[in-house]
Amino acid sequence: MLTRSIYTEEHHQFRESVQRMYARELQPYVEQWETEGIVSRDFWRACGDNGMLLPDIPEQYGGCGLDFKFNAIILEETALAGTTGPAFGVHNDIVAHYINNYGSEAVKQHWLPRMATGEAIGAICMSEPGTGSDLKNIRTRATPVDGGYVLNGSKTFITNGINADVAVIAARVGDDSGARSISLFVCGCDQPGFTKGRKLDKVGNRSSDTAELFFEDLFIPTENLLGKQGEGFIYMMKELPQERLSIAISCQAAAQHAYDIAVAYVKERQAFGKAVFDFQNTRFVLANIKTQLQVGWQHLDACIQALVNKQLSTDEAAAAKLWHSELRCKVVDDCLQLFGGYGYIEEYEIARLWRDARVMRLYGGTSEIMKDLISRSI
Ligand SMILES: Cc1cc2nc3c(=O)[nH]c(=O)nc-3n(C[C@H](O)[C@H](O)[C@H](O)COP(=O)(O)OP(=O)(O)OC[C@H]3O[C@@H](n4cnc5c(N)ncnc54)[C@H](O)[C@@H]3O)c2cc1C
Repeated sequence: MLTRSIYTEEHHQFRESVQRMYARELQPYVEQWETEGIVSRDFWRACGDNGMLLPDIPEQYGGCGLDFKFNAIILEETALAGTTGPAFGVHNDIVAHYINNYGSEAVKQHWLPRMATGEAIGAICMSEPGTGSDLKNIRTRATPVDGGYVLNGSKTFITNGINADVAVIAARVGDDSGARSISLFVCGCDQPGFTKGRKLDKVGNRSSDTAELFFEDLFIPTENLLGKQGEGFIYMMKELPQERLSIAISCQAAAQHAYDIAVAYVKERQAFGKAVFDFQNTRFVLANIKTQLQVGWQHLDACIQALVNKQLSTDEAAAAKLWHSELRCKVVDDCLQLFGGYGYIEEYEIARLWRDARVMRLYGGTSEIMKDLISRSI
């Protein structure tokens, strides 16, 4: 692999500590989490103990006060370990950032230190049964009352929905339709009127819990409004590039992992008296993937650096999410083919990687929505 020049010695040391921690606390449990459909809370606690939660949140709120590259290393190492179960992208890169960037002092003091230790797990609640892509048309309503708001509505497809302790919720205030009535709220998931529904039975990414949530006369105090009333959509547009880059990072690393295990397999597997690797087709398929991975890492690093410099635009983040998620799906499919029939058998990791990949073109905005966003910048 070409040298990745964005990372310093401090980043390399952090990566090694994440790898050591994963060997102990993650790898032995991946299959268990897959079966149970959820990552254990003990793992989140262990991540907190090892300084892996809220890397780029200021130390005064319990974070590590580092840069986003540390978040990126966690995402990469998780995917390289063969799982996307622990939804660090949601917890570290999205929920903590909404609270840190737009929360009142009281909300920051309450939730961020708990999120940093793993005592509280975060969820982001935008999508609803009636709308996902068209976020301007959400129906969850926040009615102003004395001292705050009362929320009614429901959300679906919420990552960490079952495990979550704190949720950032998008809701509409007032009767206006469209973006200018959308506000964001922070809410503890144990509040009266906040109900967790069923854990959704997914095609892949099974160790990541995904749930429906229901709000019935859920009271939210004024201090839990994020930023200003009616500006929620603006905040979402500002934060979505980081969410999309997080997905792109996971996708690139997962594609690399699929390639790595495919190379090992074809060098072992024999057919027609030689290793499967020795067929020209196999070598060309792998050469093609290797080339795409090389280009992909360099592109990804340019995007990570741009984000750290606060220069990654909405369309560039959308392009990264589009390209790396499509790459991941193509790579896992090509790699599965090299496994032959075993690629379709659950015992083989490539089968899970293939199932896990598909959602990446859907969540965080579909590939079609990414193209729409990119085209607006042309
Ligand atoms: C496993 C999983 C986890 C998720 N986690 C979260 C989460 O934590 N929080 C959260 O809020 N959401 C989450 N989502 C929801 C996800 O972001 C949405 O599913 C996604 O944005 C698409 O919305 P939708 O499902 O309503 O599809 P729809 O919006 O109904 O889209 C259906 C189809 O129409 C296409 N389409 C829609 N609009 C356009 C357009 N303008 N131009 C062209 N084509 C268009 C779409 O691309 C898609 O192909 C998750 C989803 C899944 C599956």
